[in-house]
Formats: sequence, C-alpha cells, structure tokens
Amino acid sequence: MSTSAAPARFNFAPGPAQLPPEVVAQAAAAVRAHPPRGRSILELSHRSATFDAIAAGAEADLRALLGLPADYAVLFLNGGARLHYALWPPNLAAAGDRLGFVDTGHWSRLAIAAARRAGRDARVFAAPPGDYPELAAADTEGLAYLHYVSNETLAGLAMPAPAAACPLVCDRSSDFLSAPFDVRPYALCYAGAQKNLGTAGLSVLVARRDLLRAEAGLPPELSYAAQLAAGCRLHTPPVYPWFVCALTLRWLRAQGGLPEMERRARARAEALYAAIDASPLYRNELAPRARSRMNVCFRLPDPAREARFAAAAEAAGLLGLRGHPAVGGLRASLYNAMPEAGVDALREFMRDFERTA
Ligand code: PMP
Repeated sequence: MSTSAAPARFNFAPGPAQLPPEVVAQAAAAVRAHPPRGRSILELSHRSATFDAIAAGAEADLRALLGLPADYAVLFLNGGARLHYALWPPNLAAAGDRLGFVDTGHWSRLAIAAARRAGRDARVFAAPPGDYPELAAADTEGLAYLHYVSNETLAGLAMPAPAAACPLVCDRSSDFLSAPFDVRPYALCYAGAQKNLGTAGLSVLVARRDLLRAEAGLPPELSYAAQLAAGCRLHTPPVYPWFVCALTLRWLRAQGGLPEMERRARARAEALYAAIDASPLYRNELAPRARSRMNVCFRLPDPAREARFAAAAEAAGLLGLRGHPAVGGLRASLYNAMPEAGVDALREFMRDFERTA
C-alpha cells in the first residue's frame, strides 16, 4: 500500500458517500461504547427498548423533515433501492394494472426491465437525449401508476415531478432529502440510504397507507403492508445502518432541514457547473434544466486525460471522481454532507489541471 498519497479530504463518490463528520464520530463512539452492563451498537438487539427509541426517533425526524401527512407510512427496510424495482409493483398494483415508466436512463431502464420480467404491462415514456420528457396528465390516462427516477445518478440528470393523472412512484435514491418536495402526488418514494441519509444496507420508503396491498401474493418479508404491521422487524433489520440513518436524519434537522439542504445543494452545483461551462477543457452536455444538483458529470476531450484527472485528483485527496464504468467520464457527487469547501477544492484542482492538460 502506498504511503505517499495525501490524506483523504473530500469524498465525491456516488454512494456509499461522504457522511457528516459529526455523524461518523457519533457512529464510531456507539460502536466502542461498552458501559459495564451495556452493549456496543453492533450488539444491540432489534427488540430492545433502546432500538425502539432509535427507530421511533428516526421516523419522527423523517416525518418532521418532509412534513409528512399521517396517511403516509414510513418503512426502513434491509437491502438496496434496486430491490424495490421488483417489489413495488406487487405491493401497489393489481396483476392486470397498466404501469407507466419514464425512461431517463440507466436506473429507469432497470426498473422497466424488472417490471417486464414479472410480466407487467409497462408503457414507457422515452426522454430526448440529455433531457427528460415533458408529460401532460392526459398522457397517463388509464395507468395505475407512473414510475420515474428523480435523479439519474450515472448521467447526472434530474427530472422534476411529472404531471400525471395517476399516483407517482419515484426512485429518489440519489436526491432524497436534498430539497423539500410535495409528497401528495406520490403513492411511493423510495431511496437507498447510502447517499443523502446514511450508509449502505438500508432503504427508506414513504408510502400512502391506503395503497399498500395486504394480499400482494408475496412472502411477508417482502410485503410492505406486512413489514409495516411488524414495525419493519419481520426479520432482524440492519440495526447499525438504521442507527446511522437515525443520526443523519437528526443532523439534517439540526442543520436547518430540507430548505437549508436545498440552499447548499444549489450553491455547490451552481459553482461547479459555472466552472465547467467557463472552461474550454471540461464539458457537460445535458439540457441546463435537466442538470442534477447531486451528481455533476463532466468529460474531458479523451478518456486518457479523464483517467489522468481522476488519478491526480485521488492523489490530491479528492476521492471518487471517476464516472460509472457504463458511461465513463468524471462525476462529482455532491450530496447533503459535502461542504462548500469540497467544491472549492475541486474547482481549484480543475483550474490547475487545465493549465497542465
Ligand atoms: N437508483 C438509483 C437512482 C441509484 O443511484 C442507485 C445506486 N447508485 C440505485 C437505484 C441502486 O441502489 P442500490 O445499490 O441501493 O440497490
């Protein structure tokens, strides 16, 4: 192992992503805590009063952050967001229901493929390259649900809530809790915790209670209704990721909640896109309205320079800037825990690299 690399400073990885240092410190202390008759968080029973309080606190904080109406349920479930591509249709839709899907790229297509694999009738709304489609409510007549991905993490493409005549289902994995949004049009929002609200191993769902099907034809462990009835503890849940999520939700509230997260996200993304647009070396070709505030993708003129950029950035303590292998290029993920100083450091590095490239 090399000892010459500079110590890590900012983690731009797409997820698992940078956490607030305060959260890491609290999570670490809870691992080490061994009061004489107590337990480390790693040894904590999911049936203990201590864990009941952690789970209740996490739900209360999430509800407060979103201003969540009482007719919406909150679920903390084991596993990643991708699992829900297969799980949401049987949990929300009857067998013959027609489902709509917006195709904005990689993650949308995996959701469509999962529905088709299960024999679902899926109508797809395609997006123009580098943009999202403009839907009218009338386009979605006859659909039971419309699924979309609010932030395509690979391409750095964001899509606002589409107009629809049916309830929406949204994969919010990479922009959940980065800005306020109105939950009312949604039957379900789901997200992996490892980007904006914690670490890997957990997904968080917000679902309209009246739409959860009790007879989903699923094993109870995969049924949202059954898991909800069991406090999301039908089997042993990921206690530690749930705890880290609880700490992060508390941190989000203490920082000023979602309006403050949105202000920070705008500032970070605007600063970085401005640097890209002003440079003859870097480029981002998305329609400006579709540019993500969470994942800022950019390219250099050739893959060799992109590889050099990523390696030099890594050595300078700017971590995780390589684009997804499926698309290449570079990508700076700027989730809730990324301080403005991280973007300042990246901009400075980009200026220096441009001089030598
Ligand atoms: N949806 C989106 C938008 C994502 O970015 C990701 C992961 N990067 C996933 C789904 C898959 O999440 P997981 O790996 O937690 O299953």
